[in-house]
Amino acid sequence: MIEKSLTPPPRETRAESLIQRDRRHVWHPFSYPSSTSDPIVIESANGAMLHTVDGRELLDCISSWWVNLFGHAHPRIAAAISEQAQRLEQVIFAGFTHEPAVQLADSLATLLPGDLNRVFFSDDGSTSVEVAWKIAIQYWQNLGQTTRRRLMAFDGGYHGDTLGAMSVGASSGFFEPWRRWMIDVDVIPFADTWHGDVEIETREAAALATLDQFLEQHGDEVAAMIMEPLVQGAAGMRMCRPQFVVDVIERLRQHDVLVIFDEVMTGFGRTGENFACDVADVQPDLICLSKGVTGGFLPLGVTVASDRIYESFTGDQPVMFCHGHSYTANPLGCAAANASLELLQLPETRRAWDAIAAAHQDGLQQVSRHPCATRLRQRGTIAAMDISVDDPGYSSTVGDQLKQWFWEPHESIPDVLIRPLGNVIYLMPPYCMTEQQLKTAWIAIDRALELVTDIQ
Ligand SMILES: *Cc1c(COP(=O)(O)O)cnc(C)c1O
Repeated sequence: MIEKSLTPPPRETRAESLIQRDRRHVWHPFSYPSSTSDPIVIESANGAMLHTVDGRELLDCISSWWVNLFGHAHPRIAAAISEQAQRLEQVIFAGFTHEPAVQLADSLATLLPGDLNRVFFSDDGSTSVEVAWKIAIQYWQNLGQTTRRRLMAFDGGYHGDTLGAMSVGASSGFFEPWRRWMIDVDVIPFADTWHGDVEIETREAAALATLDQFLEQHGDEVAAMIMEPLVQGAAGMRMCRPQFVVDVIERLRQHDVLVIFDEVMTGFGRTGENFACDVADVQPDLICLSKGVTGGFLPLGVTVASDRIYESFTGDQPVMFCHGHSYTANPLGCAAANASLELLQLPETRRAWDAIAAAHQDGLQQVSRHPCATRLRQRGTIAAMDISVDDPGYSSTVGDQLKQWFWEPHESIPDVLIRPLGNVIYLMPPYCMTEQQLKTAWIAIDRALELVTDIQ
């Protein structure tokens, strides 16, 4: 009897029961509630591998929604969180401070270019964006220039799911039900490009002409422009040339428009340098960071402002920035981030970025034989392609079919977590992914493309 009660239930039964309970009570993000496919129950993970409760292994090729940097359950980050939790788990951050936050602010100010020196903490990517545009608006009020009210954004830009973030990212197309509740934002074309794109110069010139025209008319009414520099993530890994970002910023500067970089996704090495602003060699006035900041362990948002911005809040009549979250600068999140930043600065991390970039080049070369794979592109550790279909976009049917296919077990290739954005297949691996693992991810894509060709 005793022996029997000690035997854990079979893995399949545990998975089954968890799925049933999940179906009864859990509401998942960006997912159809009536979906016929069961959620995959993950029990543990290490490195680039996710382990399901029923004994399968999945190779995490998208860093679990772009957050994980150095592998799952990384011992150094796990230890940092554990030690911090036993010392100080949380304390009010108005009028109080603590070492993990001070250390993190110090490190970020050192790592970021120019005079991006003033760190404001929040909870996640969306709140880091809310903080940025609110600071930008108040900056102009601090200077007494109350006519600078407009906000600009790139077409297709995505900046998060809270109201202000939805507004500046409205053109991403995810937010139709709430459109009339959003703030107005002026949208400028984004000149995305890919391998073998012969018309990019024409498209860039057209985008810049539209920008010039807009700034000519309204330049002195604009408070700030927010952008995802180099790679638009949620829009389908749309990539532009660094010079395009440089040209846009030059024009914004001429009209004194503040520049906000949303590097929530591109930050911490994804583009092959610490930040996309390092690749383009430009300095924004405000930068938003989240996702990878904690190595993918805990939610934490960071908005870093230039000295000039911060100084508008200081002086004889200091101004309060009336914004703060219950868990502002949570010590556990900061401890994870500090451990993650140490890993970021190891020489082997840069070597890993280069190795991933090289493997991506080979992979793209390999899949370019499929006629359905178009607009092949790569920036640092991110590689992507469009599948040519009649219904492109996030709700493209091929996306769901491919997702299913990738997540199912197959003969002779490992199971992979690849989650297409509509008709866009992309890879954004954690930096610990081995060459061999990355190769198998490309083989999986190659097989998937064979299937798409067969269907079409
Ligand atoms: C994911 C993302 C956000 C939102 O971050 P959350 O943590 O999901 O709120 C904002 N901007 C960009 C560029 C992102 O990729």
